[in-house]
Amino acid sequence: DVHAVPFRRGTTGALVGVVAVLHDITEIRRLEQVRREFVANVSHELKTPVTSLKGFAETLLDGAMYDEKTCRAFLEIIYEESERLSRLIQDLLQLSQIENRQITLRKGLLSARDEVADVVRLVAHTAEAKRQTVENRVPEGLRVYADRDRLRQILLNLLNNAIAYTPPGGRITLTGGEDADSTWLTVRDTGPGIPREHLDRIFERFYRVDKDRSRRSGGTGLGLAIVKHLVDAHGGRIEVKSKPGKGSAFTVHLPKPEGTEGETGDR
Ligand code: ADP
Repeated sequence: DVHAVPFRRGTTGALVGVVAVLHDITEIRRLEQVRREFVANVSHELKTPVTSLKGFAETLLDGAMYDEKTCRAFLEIIYEESERLSRLIQDLLQLSQIENRQITLRKGLLSARDEVADVVRLVAHTAEAKRQTVENRVPEGLRVYADRDRLRQILLNLLNNAIAYTPPGGRITLTGGEDADSTWLTVRDTGPGIPREHLDRIFERFYRVDKDRSRRSGGTGLGLAIVKHLVDAHGGRIEVKSKPGKGSAFTVHLPKPEGTEGETGDR
């Protein structure tokens, strides 16, 4: 085998070099593939609501508008679909800003309990409509080192999912704590849970366990991808634990500021 000769004769360095190049090409191919799939997904996700907007508007113009009840029902659908479309565009813009590193984090030490309380207030109305209880059990005095707006976005996306996927009457609990080098916050729900085989993939853009349920809940399929990016930008990590039928728990770990690792308690 002629091709093998230079490898055997050459230095180990050359061999490693060749292997590394092959590896890089595989990685580039993979990224191209991911990119192609993403563009296809975005096009599909945009097309669906637009098709529906067009269809309902056409039917109204064709005469359905003269029946007041039908008119109202169709306009409501048109309104909801445009809302979803605008959420999708907003999420896409946000994702691309994070991916292009166009965001600068303004990190500070925040009261975890207060931040959670503010976000809980934002979703209180939606939870109430589903007769769900949302409980803030984050201890007083717990500090988290984060960019306030981004942290709120992380918590809001997790809370919105918990509310959307948990059936009426369910319970959502927020807890927090710290270990030697990070502060953690958990959003736990009593929803349907996520089957083990999907757990690794739910942070991918547009990945959904159940497409119909996600659509009905008004989801864009980007919420967790945004969460993951924001957590990564903070140098943190996110974990999910779930038992189908029992609920899900998403835990965000954010590193403490340099030089304070190991300190615990009130600061
Ligand atoms: P979506 O807009 O579809 O909610 P996300 O990126 O926020 O998109 O979530 C991805 C998928 O993960 C959802 O479609 C859903 O299948 C699953 N998921 C997320 N959070 C929960 C949860 N709390 N309980 C059950 N399933 C969840």
